[in-house]
Amino acid sequence: MTTLAQYGLLRVVLPVPLRREFDYLCPLPLPARGCRVRVPFGNRTLVALVLDHPTASEVPPDKLKPLDSVLDEEPVLADADLRLLAWATGYYLHAPGEVYFQALPTLLRKGETAGYRSMDYWHLLEPDARVSAQAVKQQQALTLLRQGPLTSGELDARGIGSPILQALARKGVIEKREQLPARDDWRPALAINQDDKPRLGREQALAVSLLHQAEGFVPFLLEGITGSGKTEVYLQAMEPVLAAGRQVLVLVPEIGLTPQTIARFQRRFRAPVSTLHSGMSERERLDTWLACRDGGTAILIGTRSALLTPFRQLGLIIIDEEHDTSFKQQDGFRYHARDLALLRARQLDIPILLGSATPSFESLHNAATGKYRHLILSQRPGTATVARHLLLDSKHVQLQAGLSPQLLQLMEQELAQGNQVMLFLNRRGYAPALLCHDCGWLADCERCDAHYTWHRQQSRLHCHHCDHQRPLPPRCPQCGSQQLMGTGLGTEQVEQALAGLFPQYASIRIDRDNTRRKGSFQQHLDGIRAGRYQILIGTQMLAKGHHFPDVTLVAMLDVDGALFASDFRATERFAQLYIQVAGRAGRASKPGRVVLQSHHPEHALLQDLANQGYRHFAQGALRERQAAALPPFSFQALFRVQATRAQYCQEFLQQLAGQLAPGLSPGVLCLGPMSAQMERKAGQYRYQLLLQAASRRELAGACRQALALIETLASARKVRWSLDIDPVEL
Ligand code: ADP
Ligand code: ZN
Ligand code: ZN
Repeated sequence: MTTLAQYGLLRVVLPVPLRREFDYLCPLPLPARGCRVRVPFGNRTLVALVLDHPTASEVPPDKLKPLDSVLDEEPVLADADLRLLAWATGYYLHAPGEVYFQALPTLLRKGETAGYRSMDYWHLLEPDARVSAQAVKQQQALTLLRQGPLTSGELDARGIGSPILQALARKGVIEKREQLPARDDWRPALAINQDDKPRLGREQALAVSLLHQAEGFVPFLLEGITGSGKTEVYLQAMEPVLAAGRQVLVLVPEIGLTPQTIARFQRRFRAPVSTLHSGMSERERLDTWLACRDGGTAILIGTRSALLTPFRQLGLIIIDEEHDTSFKQQDGFRYHARDLALLRARQLDIPILLGSATPSFESLHNAATGKYRHLILSQRPGTATVARHLLLDSKHVQLQAGLSPQLLQLMEQELAQGNQVMLFLNRRGYAPALLCHDCGWLADCERCDAHYTWHRQQSRLHCHHCDHQRPLPPRCPQCGSQQLMGTGLGTEQVEQALAGLFPQYASIRIDRDNTRRKGSFQQHLDGIRAGRYQILIGTQMLAKGHHFPDVTLVAMLDVDGALFASDFRATERFAQLYIQVAGRAGRASKPGRVVLQSHHPEHALLQDLANQGYRHFAQGALRERQAAALPPFSFQALFRVQATRAQYCQEFLQQLAGQLAPGLSPGVLCLGPMSAQMERKAGQYRYQLLLQAASRRELAGACRQALALIETLASARKVRWSLDIDPVEL
């Protein structure tokens, strides 16, 4: 028989959406902080993470339950990781379990052993095996495998698909063997490929030398125009860090994690480079996670969620395209990976480098106030020049599929000289709405306040907000007419029109509709680079981070929507997109031109961007935000609510606001309740309440007051609500 004296207390977090921790009884000796245990919860058992060994519990002793089992002998998370997560829980005021479990790979959340398992690795059978020079991909595979065995998944991330591996295996050049991941220490063998290293330009050299001098926590903002060599600065900044045996974390936007990016890091350093992204299997993710934690990996390149990966000895964090909105998680635990990365760097006392051609206004403000050190790359290496900007007035001219005669003429000129032309339109599908010509009926989604987009090739209507799809109606449901027509312009329509306007040139469309198949995006990009297409049409997928040396003309077809949007961040995002798009023109030795088509070419925002550039524009916009006390000159938190009836949302938020407002300190503004920009989405009504304050402390205090109030409100049970700290979309 065991007595209570042989038991101790464990304080754990559970993967449940409750803002609290839980206590359990546990036989001695107690598992350490950061170990996983299995505990009873309601009528289930859950995996839990040990946070603490309290001496007393608020739960009466006869109500305390013993745990089921201990899962780990060694902690899965170290103290430094737990500190970061504790801070994140307090800052985002989110359910602690959901925060902590975000840092664990799915298999560990399910209770899997935190150890490596043997997997199939591709091995090179003869070190100097050769294949025909035409088989480019096979050659690449051999080059990679000469550095050591890799799994199919790792090879896939580097652009080598399974058919290539099968072909090599049939030739008897490579072979699959089951083994544990190699755990050799990479440090003694670390080498830098000097042949790969260009001579730095003056600004690059200055940036690199300042980065090399950084000791402890120093945040840097590297603002460099597209193609100015930011990645080269990242690579050289990493050198002394790796040489000291420390690891580097590189965060990239969702769309930026291409085989080329990975290959570039891999080519430079003889050291293990790992990746974390959504396309990996759960097992691969766990192995990568372990390799980072145990120090087996030197460089981790990953998207947002990679930020929470534990490292044995992290020495530098790099965030590429730091302004990208994909760094903000938009559901569940709504953290911003850039902001948390800054905190992580501060806690670990290491430098952090934020890079962008179009830094977020927040970061520019931090650089201006001296919180960040500002590094600037204003030139492109070699002979590459910066593009010229041109504003075309689309008023009173005859547009063909959205293209003005002037633009068509410019395209003609460039194409005739053998150059590529890129047209940019951030709307996929054939037309953003379907209209009855006879009675004016519009095809609206039943579940959203939105029109269906007409996808003509598939003969379907598709709601881009809730993903609902239906076949194209043969006639108008209101008047029976067959005169249904699209209104507005989508990429599919532009593509079709171009086939008629420029039949002699091949075009390719790049948007989410025709890149769904795995690897097809990459194939299209390869095709563009190989010169198979002269006209490129795409959404922002096409805008980000790709080198197309033969593109000399870039046009944005429809920019008017962004000029009059209601969200105060809309102009910032438009400016970033515009500069990104413009950066596609004239990257190599050919000069480029950027064309903006607008019905409002005189608009101050367009003029400023086109004539003065991004930084000038940002400075002006920051002054406006300051005058209006908007972020970054104030801080915001948003309570988001949704329910099947608008009334439930309104009642809940009115009660919350009514009871909260009298107790708020005078520095806190409570705005709303108001409906979300799209009031109804996927059958749910959406409302919100905005809190704003000049200090973070006051804002957090107000949020805590609100959270306590919500516990007491019966109307809270009829809605789903969440709290978004530092929202980036209102
Ligand atoms: P960014 O990341 O700023 O868009 P990259 O680092 O990708 O720019 O550099 C753009 C191109 O210029 C790449 O092809 C890169 O290899 C090349 N490059 C970068 N730095 C130099 C340099 N100092 N000398 C010559 N070429 C360079
Ligand atoms: Zn009709
Ligand atoms: Zn819908």
